[in-house]
Amino acid sequence: MTDARRPLIAGNWKMNGLKASAGEMRAIVAGASKAAKADLLICPPATLVAEFAGIVKKGSPVAIGGQDCHAAASGAHTGDISTEMLADAGATAVIVGHSERRADHGETDAIVNAKAQAAWRAELTAILCIGETQAQRDAGKTLDIIGGQLRGSVPEGATANTLVIAYEPVWAIGTGLTPTVKDVAQVHEYIRNYLKQYFKNDGEVIRILYGGSVKPSNAVELLAVPHVNGALIGGASLKASDFLAIAAAAP
Ligand code: PEP
Repeated sequence: MTDARRPLIAGNWKMNGLKASAGEMRAIVAGASKAAKADLLICPPATLVAEFAGIVKKGSPVAIGGQDCHAAASGAHTGDISTEMLADAGATAVIVGHSERRADHGETDAIVNAKAQAAWRAELTAILCIGETQAQRDAGKTLDIIGGQLRGSVPEGATANTLVIAYEPVWAIGTGLTPTVKDVAQVHEYIRNYLKQYFKNDGEVIRILYGGSVKPSNAVELLAVPHVNGALIGGASLKASDFLAIAAAAP
C-alpha cells in the first residue's frame, strides 16, 4: 500500500473464515498478478491475521489488515485487540468505523477517531468507513451525515499513506442494493473536496473506496466513477475468483 494513487481493492471477511480458508487466501495471492493495476488487501478475522500474513510473499501486491482495533496499546480490555498486536501479527492496515461496529457496538465518531490515531501509532493504514442509513438518505441528509462523520472521525494530520476513506452506504451493505453511479459520484466528489480542503496535496490522493454490494457484475461500472479509487468488499471477497474478478476491473 505504498503508491497512494493505485486503486485499492480490499476484502472484509467479517466473522467468516477458519484455518481451512487458507486455500482461498493462497488462491488470491496466486491470482494477484492478474490485478496488477491494483493493491489488494484482505482483512480476515483476527485469528487468521498471522497465518494469512505468512502466506503473503514479500513484494506481493496483497497485504493483510485487521477489521477493528482498540484505541489503547495494551491493558485491561478483555477480548479487544490493539493495533500493535495487529502489526506484530503482520497486518499493515486496519478497518475502523465499519457500520457494523458503529451499530452493534455503539462506536461514535470520537471512538473511530481514536482508533484511527491508534492505527497510525502502530504504523498501520486506517481504512475509515463512513456512510448514511436508508432513512438518512430518504430524508435528503446524505451529505450532511457524510460531512459530520468526516469532521468527527478523521483525525488531523492524515496523509495519503496513512488514511483510506471507505464510503459505504449502510443500506447497500450485504443487501445486493447499490446507489446509482450518479449518487456514488456525488458523495465521492464531496469527500474529495473535504479531503482537499483539510489535507491539501495529500487530500488530492488519499484513496476513497466505494463499499456496499460490490460484485464482479457491477465492479467495472462502480470502479470507473470519478474519485472512486477502489472498493471495500464484504461477501464477494470470500471467494478468490470473485475477489480477483473485481480487482481485475480496477481501471
Ligand atoms: C462491507 O461490509 O464492508 C461490505 C461492503 O459488505 P458487502 O460487500 O457484502 O455489501
